[in-house]
Amino acid sequence: MKEIILIKNGELALKGLNRSNFEDILIKNMRRRLKSLGEVSIRKAQSTIYVEPQSDDFDFDEALERVGLIFGIAGYSRACVCEKSMEDILSRSVEYLRESLENIKTFKVEAKRADKSFPLTSPEICRELGGTLLRAFPHLKVDVHNPDKTVFVEIRDYNAYVRAEQLTGAGGLPVGTAGTASILISGGIDSPVAAWTMAKRGLRLNAIHFASPPYTSARAELKVRTLLSKVARYSGCINLAIVPFTEIQDKIAELCPEDYFTLIMRRMMMRISEKLAQKSGSLALITGESLGQVASQTLPALVTTDSVVNMPVLRPLIGMDKEEIVRISRNIDTFETSILPYEDCCTVFTPKHPKTRPTLELCEKAEAALNIDELIEKAIAATEYSYID
Ligand code: ATP
Ligand code: MG
Repeated sequence: MKEIILIKNGELALKGLNRSNFEDILIKNMRRRLKSLGEVSIRKAQSTIYVEPQSDDFDFDEALERVGLIFGIAGYSRACVCEKSMEDILSRSVEYLRESLENIKTFKVEAKRADKSFPLTSPEICRELGGTLLRAFPHLKVDVHNPDKTVFVEIRDYNAYVRAEQLTGAGGLPVGTAGTASILISGGIDSPVAAWTMAKRGLRLNAIHFASPPYTSARAELKVRTLLSKVARYSGCINLAIVPFTEIQDKIAELCPEDYFTLIMRRMMMRISEKLAQKSGSLALITGESLGQVASQTLPALVTTDSVVNMPVLRPLIGMDKEEIVRISRNIDTFETSILPYEDCCTVFTPKHPKTRPTLELCEKAEAALNIDELIEKAIAATEYSYID
């Protein structure tokens, strides 16, 4: 029995003339995500995208799982492909729906005829298929108001399709339709959630990580890669830049007042990130900051970090509680990795009494002893690039 995946996209419907462009990007993203699973055809017709396996070894279950994570898909379902005859629809339905109908009590049939030349009307299709299913599964009753399951029949261009499930998609907009931005990724809970949140709004992601060996270990870097690969299941591939940050941190520790360590470090991160973002075609930076969460995330602190860059800094978690952030991180399966106890470059140099109400003026004074341009240039020259899939 031949099965396919049918995709209906929600918010895409709102995009007017852009719609076709959005759908093309979505299909391209889908091709990329499914191509390792075997030969498959992906095409659109009449506001539906059809994913049709072209070889017997195509991993259908894995494809279904991957489709469930692709942004820009509101709902999807697996369906059985039938010939456009009532006879074929009836016989295949009984076999195909057996598992779905065995353990429920009530059902109804809904039919849709995109092809109006089909000899039966929609109500007639419902009646025939309903009758056949009642005979095949005598424990079932029809309930048109509140059924345990709805069986859908669609008569389309070349085929008819029968299905009993409607799955909820990942929602959002296809990655790439909103441009590209760079996520500053640490090994913590927040930044992977921030990355996921913005990818969901259609941004393609580049990532920047600051590593401070030997204060931070290879395991900490691996943790970041693991987090990004989990985000990439949703966002598609991510270019990663790893910036050596040790010298900058050593210099800050040596030359700057302790209560400004964290802020100066963050200002250095932002300056470097903006430069890397420009090189990689990103139009904005993304961080996992949440207002008031720590000393470096008070409003005055954010003012001092924002003031060193011209690019917009997107902070999708700014108004969220930690609980909400943790809930998302569990949902997207980054939480367990994030809480692994490897040291982060920020925790290595945490001052005892960080400034919660810094002023720009004092901040600039505190970092005046640094040769900022030279430190930035050196860090960028030694940055290493890789690719997360
Ligand atoms: P997270 O859980 O994302 O680590 P956090 O609450 O621990 O966030 P901070 O450590 O103050 O907060 O970092 C704030 C933001 O700065 C992070 O969300 C991330 O975007 C960025 N950031 C922090 N450390 C790094 C790093 N080593 N490399 C890249 N970006 C970083
Ligand atoms: Mg952190």
